[in-house]
Amino acid sequence: MAEPLFDLAGRRVYVAGHRGMVGAALVRRLATEGCAILTAARAELDLTQPAQVEAWFARMRPEAVFVAAARVGGILENDTRPADFLHDNLLIQANLLKAAHESGVGKLLFLGSSCIYPRLAPQPIVEEALLTGPLEPTNEAYAVAKIAGIKLCQAYRRQHGADFIAAMPANLYGPGDTFDLASGHVLPALIRKAEEARRSGAADLVIWGTGTPRREFLHVDDCADACVHLMKVYSGAGPVNVGSGEEIAILDLARLVARLVGFEGRIVRDLTRPDGTPRKLMNSDRLRATGWAPRIGLEEGIAEVCRAWCAAAEGGRGAAA
Ligand code: GDP
Repeated sequence: MAEPLFDLAGRRVYVAGHRGMVGAALVRRLATEGCAILTAARAELDLTQPAQVEAWFARMRPEAVFVAAARVGGILENDTRPADFLHDNLLIQANLLKAAHESGVGKLLFLGSSCIYPRLAPQPIVEEALLTGPLEPTNEAYAVAKIAGIKLCQAYRRQHGADFIAAMPANLYGPGDTFDLASGHVLPALIRKAEEARRSGAADLVIWGTGTPRREFLHVDDCADACVHLMKVYSGAGPVNVGSGEEIAILDLARLVARLVGFEGRIVRDLTRPDGTPRKLMNSDRLRATGWAPRIGLEEGIAEVCRAWCAAAEGGRGAAA
């Protein structure tokens, strides 16, 4: 296990984006670190407004920052709203990093995504693959913003000696995910569709694309744990992949969800929908070398999310009845 370089205990730690899935997991995880957790409601602080961000940092004086604030979404939302994804993410991260630098924040962790890597990067993808080839078109806007965020961390490090680091998580899932079918990611969408199909007695569960793309999934609580760990032990310009090493094809994921939810009908593919990148399994050796490993297995984690969604759906119907 790598020796801590940065101690969180007794520090003022700002989680930007605490209402999001990752930010909320970070707040849960930081509760045992003995630090003061700072958050800001959206009504109080609009992260796209530089003057507001600057004033908030000057007033609250955070000593460490997790940048988990971002406009995020699934393949359809990314593909149809590229201007929003590029614009909002560029502003949010530029404002946060500048305010952090100018107010003397001691350590900052920026969260990216595995979609920053070239669409056809050799697998498992190493950090050095960054900017070696064309990006996946369906999420290019988001990826370009996140690449700019990594570069901004590196630039503050090189020009000002700021200890800004960047973590690249795999496809995340877990509590607090978006179950909206148009804007969300694949796992909550499949759980919702399978549960609704089972309940209504529908014959088909429709999945988007061919079902052949493979995705590496990581539970958000493991992601938060890895980020807190990196904040303490890692200080370097290079981004760090944060993966589980557990990869599954979308069709197999649909079969698993159907089994867990109790849907026994057919799984049907909608080939008018995009597949996105064929595969994005990361090599997380850099992270593993610091002594960190994930704790939540894929089937165990997915089963927990399925149970929570089905129980809430039952409860909702009970309440309505
Ligand atoms: P991505 O990793 O950026 O492509 O994000 P997603 O989680 O949105 O999609 C992952 C894969 O699941 C893609 O190949 C999608 O086409 C596929 N997929 C299958 N069914 C669905 C669905 O109902 N919703 C979403 N979002 N993706 C789906």
